[in-house]
Amino acid sequence: MRICRFAAVLALGALVLVGCGPKGGGPVDQARLNGANAETANWLSYGRTYDEQRYSPLDKINDQTVGQLKLAWFHDLDTARGQEATPLAVDGVIYISTAWSKVLAFDGATGKLLWSYDPKVTGGTGVHACCDVVNRGVAFWKGKVYVGALDGRLIALDAKDGHVVWSADTVVDHALPYTVTGAPRVVKGKVLIGNSGAELGVRGYLSAYDAETGKLAWRFFTVPGDPSKGPDHAASDEPLAKIAAKTWTGDGWWKYGGGGTVWDAIAYDPETDLLYFGTDNGDPWGQKVRSPEGGDNLFVTSIIAVKPDTGQYVWHYQLNPGEEWDFSATQQLMLADLTIGGAPRKVIMQAAKDGFFRVLDRTTGKLISVKAFAPMNWATGFDMKSGRAIENPAARFSSTGYMVYPSGIGAHAWQPMSMSPKTGLVYISAMQVPLVYSNAEPFEFHKGRWNTAVQLLGATLKTPGLPPGTKSVDELDKGWLVAWDPVAGREVWRFDYSHPWNGGTLATAGNLVFQGDSKGGFHAFRADNGKKLWDFDAQTGVMAGPMSYEINGEQYVAVLAGYGGSMGVATPPPGPDQVYPNGRLLVFKLSGTAALPPFTPTPRPPPNPPADHFTAAQVAAGGKLYGTYCQICHRGAIMPDLRRSAALSSNAAWKSIVIDGAFEPGGMASFRDYLSPDQAEDIRAYVGGQAAQLKAGGS
Ligand code: CA
Repeated sequence: MRICRFAAVLALGALVLVGCGPKGGGPVDQARLNGANAETANWLSYGRTYDEQRYSPLDKINDQTVGQLKLAWFHDLDTARGQEATPLAVDGVIYISTAWSKVLAFDGATGKLLWSYDPKVTGGTGVHACCDVVNRGVAFWKGKVYVGALDGRLIALDAKDGHVVWSADTVVDHALPYTVTGAPRVVKGKVLIGNSGAELGVRGYLSAYDAETGKLAWRFFTVPGDPSKGPDHAASDEPLAKIAAKTWTGDGWWKYGGGGTVWDAIAYDPETDLLYFGTDNGDPWGQKVRSPEGGDNLFVTSIIAVKPDTGQYVWHYQLNPGEEWDFSATQQLMLADLTIGGAPRKVIMQAAKDGFFRVLDRTTGKLISVKAFAPMNWATGFDMKSGRAIENPAARFSSTGYMVYPSGIGAHAWQPMSMSPKTGLVYISAMQVPLVYSNAEPFEFHKGRWNTAVQLLGATLKTPGLPPGTKSVDELDKGWLVAWDPVAGREVWRFDYSHPWNGGTLATAGNLVFQGDSKGGFHAFRADNGKKLWDFDAQTGVMAGPMSYEINGEQYVAVLAGYGGSMGVATPPPGPDQVYPNGRLLVFKLSGTAALPPFTPTPRPPPNPPADHFTAAQVAAGGKLYGTYCQICHRGAIMPDLRRSAALSSNAAWKSIVIDGAFEPGGMASFRDYLSPDQAEDIRAYVGGQAAQLKAGGS
């Protein structure tokens, strides 16, 4: 039983009894973050420790007891949009961020909500998010909780009650569609935050803010800007001028964005005092538009090491010189001390989108080993001398289309991987989702929208690049959990799912690996041999990284459930018409007694074709506009299928939403800055035709 004392506090002249509750809000300082691994009960930062290993030393829940693992408590969230955050546990309090950048604090033992904070991101901001309005987590430092809001604000909250201490605008140009979805990290009193948008025409950078005041300390741009504007007066000026500038040609990159956003991977090594971050793809994807004469296009798809106090450049390693596939180095960076070839090595590791698992010396950035952890056809091998993959020339697609795997979806995406020092294995959520790339010719620029200069084509059994032995295009997409030996560079075991987009992983000292999947399962596997020991039906996709903490000797495992994110915007709803339940925070302990209420799928509304007559020209124009402005969100499972929209039958209702922003509070942007009312009507004509087809039995 929990020991609880009551404290008498004299406040405003009245005697107030305050429950002892969790201590929370503690003074997490540099010493505690450096020693976070020894704080077995806590999970103090996004990857638990600065090395981002996501390993919990707790072992009461283990391969012998996990059969008794039951739901301890849960908290229903306010939306069915994607949930990607890893909770933090600080001295008994759980802090989470959710879709739309909200922050909630709970008593970790009871699930009692202590406070919540809504940054009130406007619904229209969602249109700038490539992959749903997700948020991957908060940071904690000296009694403050930090969240990056979707609209680009970095906000410091008082950990005790959630009130705003300061708010900083991290966006350099609000005319561009910058968004923030990543978890901030705090290093030596500076809060580090990047942003997203490398598909939509932005230039990437990482910013460092004073944790106490919110004042900008330094900024590192990852790609050069408009040369006519001169240097940025930023930490990146010298490396951009001396190293990066000569790797770009033409003027496409600064006109259309450049890319290289820093939207996820950040790690820190207190020993070498180096801060590491990974950059996203070049923007637009197609290099013929971005940098027509070729070139490596530094520092896109690169790991960059800088000094955390100043942002001063130390080294970089580029994964995919001149990339064109939405490859990136934004996948999690993990630090470890390994014995390789009999010698101790300080390494930084990454399971990248491109299917290679790389091990680098983190003091120098020199490559130690590379091995493919997933099937690939974009590369035929690796040249260790140059540190570059040997590309399959056909993967540099033309106008006819070539199937490339792994694709920009990634052999490993943002789902965090974990490592157990007991097994020496890294647990990776791997997948294969090939895409058929072709040049989009001629290139048309649509400000603020996806501008990839690439057209993705449908796959057939005649598409060049198909994996050998493919019998059906339906079997191309796969997902599996792989246990990877980073020293030997080989797979030790795997668990196959029938589907891609599965969750991040947690490794524990109990010889367990936890992982959710996109169909709603949450599982525990034996860490040493992959035997599945435990399942839970979460009723909705579990994509986020699980974590573990301890309160009063009781071990808990927590994970956010919520179908959405890249998967939810890209994948049509499965099976019969239904929607997913809202997201949830799920918390488990041995002999827990909570249970989820049964979930009854809600039938989707029927197709609703309008009675109006539209011309063929309207339908054709609308189809093109639909592809540019609507399809990216409305083809998937989480945003409404417009063919079933009640507004589809009325010109006035349609215009009130698409142009006047009637649904903005609910997250549907107004397109008044992008579309005229006539163009909105053209889209209604096109969607109306699609609705009629659906009603007639089409798909
Ligand atoms: Ca990208």
